[in-house]
Amino acid sequence: MKNTRQRAAILRVLDESAEPLSAEEVHSRLHGEEPSLALSTVYRNLERFCSENLLHRDTFGDGVVRYSPARRHGHYLICTGCDARVRIDGCPLAALEEGLERDTGFSIESHSLTLYGKCPRCMEREKHPEKSGEK
Ligand SMILES: [Zn+2]
Ligand SMILES: [Zn+2]
Repeated sequence: MKNTRQRAAILRVLDESAEPLSAEEVHSRLHGEEPSLALSTVYRNLERFCSENLLHRDTFGDGVVRYSPARRHGHYLICTGCDARVRIDGCPLAALEEGLERDTGFSIESHSLTLYGKCPRCMEREKHPEKSGEK
């Protein structure tokens, strides 16, 4: 009974988050309502959800594993300066997949696409390094 509630709570936290979350982030968001929930339990459940194809795991440039709902696959812009993440709405690869399936006979099951660069704030900082720290 308790396990079922905790499993549902973990999935809900990921559903409500616009960004993928690490196990630590899920754990800290649930601390208020599930104070007895151990980080190891969160980990175990997240991994089980992945094997059940309910969640999708991503490792970004910082090496941290983050989880997001599998049915809502997402693409991200990641800043190499400050690690900011921006989710791209929609998927630009759907048309490409269709063409590839037609041309190659593959049945494509998934893909990943992550774009790396500098966010506007980091660009500004690079342009005016002498101003950083002033005011
Ligand atoms: Zn940045
Ligand atoms: Zn996509």
